[in-house]
Order: sequence, then C-alpha cells, then structure tokens
Amino acid sequence: MDIYEHWIAGAARPANSNRLGPVYNPATGEQERQVRLADETDVAAAVHAAKTAFESWSETSVTARARIMFAFRQLLVEHELELAGVISREHGKTIDDARGEVVRGREVVEFACGIPQLLKGDFNDQVSGGVDSFSFRQPLGVVAGITPFNFPIMVPLWMHPIAIACGNTFVLKPSERVPGASDLVARLYREAGLPDGVFNVVHGDKVAVDALLRSPDVAAVSFVGSTPIAKYVHETATAHGKRVQALGGAKNHAVVMPDADLDYVTDHLVAAGYGSAGQRCMAISAVVAVGPVADALVAKLRDKTRQVRIGPGDDPASEMGPVISAAARERILSYVDEGRAAGAEVVVDGRDTSVAGKPEGFYVGPTLLDHVHPAMKVYTDEIFGPVLSVLRVATLDEAIDLIAANPYGNGTAVFTSSGEVARTFQRRVPVGMIGVNVPIPVPMAFHSFGGWKDSLFGDHHIHGPEGVRFYTRAKVVTQRWPHVNEESLAALNFPNAT
Ligand code: NAD
Repeated sequence: MDIYEHWIAGAARPANSNRLGPVYNPATGEQERQVRLADETDVAAAVHAAKTAFESWSETSVTARARIMFAFRQLLVEHELELAGVISREHGKTIDDARGEVVRGREVVEFACGIPQLLKGDFNDQVSGGVDSFSFRQPLGVVAGITPFNFPIMVPLWMHPIAIACGNTFVLKPSERVPGASDLVARLYREAGLPDGVFNVVHGDKVAVDALLRSPDVAAVSFVGSTPIAKYVHETATAHGKRVQALGGAKNHAVVMPDADLDYVTDHLVAAGYGSAGQRCMAISAVVAVGPVADALVAKLRDKTRQVRIGPGDDPASEMGPVISAAARERILSYVDEGRAAGAEVVVDGRDTSVAGKPEGFYVGPTLLDHVHPAMKVYTDEIFGPVLSVLRVATLDEAIDLIAANPYGNGTAVFTSSGEVARTFQRRVPVGMIGVNVPIPVPMAFHSFGGWKDSLFGDHHIHGPEGVRFYTRAKVVTQRWPHVNEESLAALNFPNAT
C-alpha cells in the first residue's frame, strides 16, 4: 500500500518514525493508502530545512517572490481536476465541490501575487529638520500551519502563499486523514521554482503538532480546526513565545424573517446545511425561524431535503457525499437519536441512508429536526454533519439574543427583504462573518476570514490584509544625513521645540 511521506527540503524524505496512519476512501469505506506519522526528529528536520532556506529566501527580491506565486497559480489552474480528484477520494465531497475549494484557495495565491503592493511601507519627509521617518514590514522566519480535514487544500492555501510571499518559510502539518492534496501542492511549488526548504510538509498527529508548538525555531503558528484543539494550540504556542492565530469550530445560525422569500431561503439553506455533508466550518446548522414563518418554512425545507441526491463524490449525479469516517457517522447518528429523545421532531431522517453498491461507505442522509430547544445537545454542540435544526422564536431581538448566547461566533446570516432588519442584525450580532441573504458569507481572499468568541483565539483573522500583518512585523526608521561639519544640536533633554 502506498505511503505518503514527509516533504522536506524539496523532496519526499525517508522518516525516522515508523508509525503509520490509515487513509480511507469514505465513499467505499476502504483503506486505500497510509500516511507517515512524524516523530519529533522528523519535525525537527522539516523546521531545520525551513530555517536554512529562510536565510536566502528572506533576501530574495519581492518581485522574484511574486513571480513564483504567478507560476504556482498557473499550475493550480492546470492541475485543478487532479487536485479535486485527490480531495474527493480522501474527503468524500463531490468533485464539483472539491473544484470549488481549489478555486477559492487559488484566489489567495492571486492575492499573494500582489505582494509588492501589499508590502509597501510608509514614508514621512522632514519629520524634523533634516530628519525623515519610514516604516516597513519584515518576515518572521519559520512559520507553521496546522490544518483540518474538511478543506484539504483551501485552508492550507489561506496560509502558505501569503506567508511565503512575505518572505517566510513554511512547515505545513495537514490533517492526517487527507494528506494527498498537500503532497501534490509541494510538488507544484517545486515546479513553480520555489527553492527547496521554503515549503515543507510533515504528516502526523498530536506528536507532530506538539513538536511544532514547542520548537524554538518556529516563530508563528496558524491553526484551523476544532475549538478544544484551537484553544490548546493557542495556549501552548503562546506559552512558547510564538505569534498564534487559532481558528476553531462553529455553530452557524440562519435567521429567517417573515418577510423573506421562502423559496429562495429554502434553496439556500438546503445547500448551506447539506453541502459537503455539513462538514464546513461555515455550514448552516441552526435555522432560526422568526414569528409566523416556521410552519411554511419547515414544510418547504422538508420537501427540498428529501430531493438531495446522495452518493460517491466522483459520481456526477451526487449532490452530497459521505462523511469523513465511520466514527464521524456514529457520532452524527447518536446526536440525532439524542435530539429525538430530548423532544425534537425528526422531520427528515437520514439515519438509515445507504448507497447502492457502497455498503461500507460512511453515508448519513440529510436530516431535518424541528422544535429544537437551546438546551438540547443537537443545538449546543457542533455536530459537523448533515443535520439542520430548526428553532422557533417570536422576534428578531430573540433571534439575536439566541446567537449572542451561543459560545461560537464564526458565521451567521439573516434572510429578509428589510434593509432596516439587515442593518440592525449586522450591527448587533457578535459574530465575525455575516451574510445578508447570503447563507455562507465566506470573505473573498482580499478580505480577511475569522470568527469571534470560541471560533477564533488570537488577534488576527486569516488571509487578506490581516494575513500580511500576521506573517510580518513592523520596523520604523528615523534617519538624518547631516552635512559635513553640520552643528550637531545634540542635547541631553528630549527635543522640545514646537
Ligand atoms: P481537529 O481539531 O480534530 O484537527 C485539526 C488539526 O489538529 C489536525 O491537523 C489534527 O491532526 C490536529 N490535532 C487533532 N487532535 C489534536 C490534539 N489532541 N493535539 C494536537 N493536535 C491535534 O479538526 P478536524 O476534525 O480535522 O476538522 C473539523 C473542525 O475544524 C471543525 O470543528 C470545524 O468547525 C473546524 N474548522 C474551522 C474552520 C474555521 O475557519 N474556523 C475552518 C475549517 C474547519
């Protein structure tokens, strides 16, 4: 069986560790490959390669760095289908959905192509007699990225193109459940002309993560994953003196007002709730029906949910693939059982779903729950599967209070035809990314992405302008070029002339 090995200093390298993990095809439930799980020595080798490469990469001109990003971007275009195939095979999402994540990730590379413009500093002429002052930003050194299973290429692409374009070198620790896309990305970077050691991949689990968090040679860590691990990564890496951005889990609410167009809302909620089998950090999982809208909305959602076509990701007829693992399937099913026992109505039941010819695949059908209450576990916990819960409230204020009381604050949306309602919602709701009649408001690459509260630990959102700030630090220079024999004017007091 093929083994994914670490990519260090421009090549796949034999590892010190002999631990291996399984890589499944969720559509069939079969193990197809293995992945090397790094030990501390393997991580140290990747960090050493990155540290060595930093010496020359940080001295490489910004235009040369931008040109490599242009070449890398072109290779991502040429390999789009190949990348989508690998992602679909290891994650389970449909090929079309996988292509979408390749494109959205590529947009970050397009943003990074503008790095000469993004790194421009500021200059003040004559801040005092004969004195000028200017500021500019420099890279941090070796930075690490630790990423989740649900976007095998897009989430790493939120990080490394910007970090590398800024002059840093990078060590990626992708999810051990979906290693294939990172392997291919490493090869494409080499083809684009990126010097060896600037981009490295170590595969692994907690052992590899801990080694990165503790390494004295890693200056900063970008993490995306579940909230408990995000919190742990933030605390551990900051305790080891690193700059950290750690993006966590989510419970995203869509508020449906009585004045919304229910057919439009239904189409968008079914897509946002069940796309990628609900395994998106911006998936809608809680529908908040305001006032009299609930009965009609639930009836429409029921009819549309029943039409979702489930099957393997590589079948063009499939709209929704399997979930990532057998354990994830069991977890999701037990949440539905628990919700039902707690009094929720199972309007559409995906628990017994099977797909012809794939009896061992990790399938869960789209599931719609009504009359869900805030105390139920189906509401309090992030299920991360194709389960939409409907909660009923009387007013917009109640809907906003419900969202505010939830510990997560990643994304949310309001569906309405009232500008006033939309404005009130966007100003009051304590959530980082807000959609108005847009269910999954993922910011474009030239804005930054990030939630509030338990959905993000750290000060910076990811990619966009905040990404450039995260991966660089500022310098301010104050300079004077005195004439020969100019009177010095030096004094022991602070300058106080006005
Ligand atoms: P996860 O937290 O289990 O894993 C994320 C990364 O952490 C992986 O690389 C994994 O190897 C590593 N890891 C796992 N357990 C660890 C431990 N005990 N110590 C150190 N490292 C550990 O997340 P996942 O299941 O791969 O991904 C799904 C989660 O990611 C969901 O909660 C989802 O909401 C979240 N997510 C958030 C965003 C966002 O932008 N906020 C985006 C995508 C996914």
